[in-house]
Amino acid sequence: MNQTAPIFVAGHRGLVGSAILRALRSEGFTNLLLRTREELDLTSQAAVDDFFRRERPQYVFLAAARVGGILANNNYPAEFIHDNLAIQLNVIGAAHRHQAAKLLFLGSSCIYPKFAPQPIREEYLLTGLLEPTNEPYAIAKIAGLKTIEAYRRQYGFNGICLMPTNLYGPGDNFDLNHSHVLPALIRRFHEAKLAAAPSVTVWGTGSPRREFLHVDDLAAASLFLMRNYDSPEIVNVGCGQDVTIRELAGMVKTATGYLGELVFDSSKPDGTPRKLLDVSRMAALGWSPRIPLTEGIRSTYEWFLANRA
Ligand code: GDP
Repeated sequence: MNQTAPIFVAGHRGLVGSAILRALRSEGFTNLLLRTREELDLTSQAAVDDFFRRERPQYVFLAAARVGGILANNNYPAEFIHDNLAIQLNVIGAAHRHQAAKLLFLGSSCIYPKFAPQPIREEYLLTGLLEPTNEPYAIAKIAGLKTIEAYRRQYGFNGICLMPTNLYGPGDNFDLNHSHVLPALIRRFHEAKLAAAPSVTVWGTGSPRREFLHVDDLAAASLFLMRNYDSPEIVNVGCGQDVTIRELAGMVKTATGYLGELVFDSSKPDGTPRKLLDVSRMAALGWSPRIPLTEGIRSTYEWFLANRA
């Protein structure tokens, strides 16, 4: 990637897109094409085609998506499948028609079967049923991978696909009901500390295992693949290690300085018992993450304190 090449970061205000933007800026890329949702509606084929015709992006990071936790997925299944399919078809199609040199598509670990063996290897894709609560989102993401595969086979389109594990970091959604576990716990422990509450309630039994990757590591992996990877196979990106929700809650408790007790509410769902990606393909390419979970939680808590208004 030339430092002055026109680069389009689709979704640059989201958790992932904003981290990719920080990484590109810190590495001196100067010709960054950014459009807010108000400026460019990615679900409009005409608008996206017009944008590509005028701006001719050479590199495309496709980090725009309609995302949300279990409740949002459950309440808005139509938007989750429609908007994600539309965004992908429009951006991938326009990148092909207007001869972008390369496109990186971000998938999700929820594309894999609910009962996939652990750790999850890339080849487990489409070998079993999906988790029903986010099936519309997962189907859209799988269609994205397959769209890129088809354009590559028929037209030689240079699209690559990265599957991130659970992400966290600055810019995350800290809503108590609609967010994922890590930001929800940061907020809950912080508020319990302020209120000097005797205990904090953690959903489920505390025994499920999850893998967490700081979004700045994901952004570094995205730039690494954009520079060094041109193959059709999808690539998992994670840290290769998981923790129990109980261990995670302990880490958040320490980071926030909360001194009370943990209470587990087993009437709330545990979800999948374990979700860990096999990251040996990425390791063989020569990339590994840098931000340890304890350090990432600490800096994300600082970000939360500075930005919670
Ligand atoms: P998942 O990885 O798709 O299951 O998504 P989540 O991040 O929502 O949940 C991960 C695990 O954390 C589940 O076992 C939840 O029950 C547990 N958990 C504990 N406390 C919370 C919380 O406050 N919010 C959420 N979202 N999950 C929590």
